[in-house]
Amino acid sequence: MEYLRATCRDDALAALADGNTSVLAGGQSLVLDLSKGDAEVRRVVDINQVAEFDLLTERDGVLRVAPLVRHRTFESVTVGGPLGELMRLVVRNIGHPPIRARGTMLGSLAYAHPAAEWPALAVALRARFELSGPDGCRTVPADRFYTGPFATVRRPEELLTEARLPTLPPGTGVGYAEDRSGPGIYPEAAAIVAVTMTDGLITAATIGLVNAGPRPVCARAAERSLLGTSFSDAAVNAAAEAAACIDADFGRIAPADRRRRERATWRLTRRALTQAREGC
Ligand SMILES: Cc1cc2nc3c(=O)[nH]c(=O)nc-3n(C[C@H](O)[C@H](O)[C@H](O)COP(=O)(O)OP(=O)(O)OC[C@H]3O[C@@H](n4cnc5c(N)ncnc54)[C@H](O)[C@@H]3O)c2cc1C
Repeated sequence: MEYLRATCRDDALAALADGNTSVLAGGQSLVLDLSKGDAEVRRVVDINQVAEFDLLTERDGVLRVAPLVRHRTFESVTVGGPLGELMRLVVRNIGHPPIRARGTMLGSLAYAHPAAEWPALAVALRARFELSGPDGCRTVPADRFYTGPFATVRRPEELLTEARLPTLPPGTGVGYAEDRSGPGIYPEAAAIVAVTMTDGLITAATIGLVNAGPRPVCARAAERSLLGTSFSDAAVNAAAEAAACIDADFGRIAPADRRRRERATWRLTRRALTQAREGC
C-alpha cells in the first residue's frame, strides 16, 4: 500500500484525484478495517499535517468543523450554548478516550457507520456538508449525504472539507439517551434531542435516532407532533410513539427484532425528551 502525506489542502485533493485513494484522518476506523482485512486500499493520503484542517469556527449562527477537529474537542466548553451542551452529552460516549483523542468528527461523518452518533446529530440538526474535489466545492444537506450503511454520495475523488452545524437558540433544552452494552463499542440505539421553547410553547424540535435504520434517522413526525405544545407528559409520550413508528427500511427483519427496536426507540426518545424539558 502506498502512503502519501499531504501538507496542504491542494496536496490532499491532488492525491485523491485518481479516485483510488483513501483519506487517513484519525485512523480509528480505517486502520482497524485495514488490519481486519475489511478494507481494500491501494493508496492512502494522510491529512494530519494539513494545518488549515485543524479549524473550528462559529459565525453567524453556524458552527464550522474542518477535517482535523478531533472528537475530544467537543468534550470541553469550546462550543458554547445549547449546541455545545448537546455535543458534550453525545461525545463523551464515543469509543473511549484514546479514540476520542485521535478520531475526527468528519472522519466519523464520512465513514457513515449506522450506529455512529455524529451522523445522526448532523441529520437531526439539518447540518450541511462541504465536499471538495477537482471541480471545486459542493454543499450537500446531511440527510441527502447518507445513502446506506457505510455509503454516502461522496465521490472517491472528493474530500469532506467542512460540516456546518446550525447553533441552537437560547431557551433550547437538549437530551441524549442510549442503550450500549459497554464502553468502547457502538451504541445499540440512541436518541439525540433539542427542543426550543418560547413563551411556554415549543417552537422548534429536533430528534435524531442512532442505529434506527440503515442511515441516520430524523424523527420528523415526532418533531412535528411537539410543535405548539407546552411540552407536557402527554406531548412527550405522543412524540415517543411517533418516533417508534418510523418505518426505517431495514429490509428483512424478524417481527420480534422490529418490536424490540420500536420499544427501544420509544423508551430512549422519551428519556431524551424528558432530559431536554428540564433544560428549557
Ligand atoms: C473500539 C472503537 C470503538 C468506537 N466506538 C465508537 C462509537 O461509540 N461511536 C462512534 O461514532 N464511533 C466510534 N468509533 C469510531 C471512531 O469514532 C472513529 O474515530 C471514526 O469513525 C472515524 O474517524 P477517524 O478520524 O478516525 O477516521 P479514519 O479512520 O481515518 O477514516 C474513516 C473513513 O472515513 C474516511 N475519511 C476520513 N476523513 C475523511 C474526510 N475528511 N473526507 C473524506 N473521507 C474521510 C476515510 O478514508 C475512511 O474511509 C469507534 C472506533 C473504535 C476503534
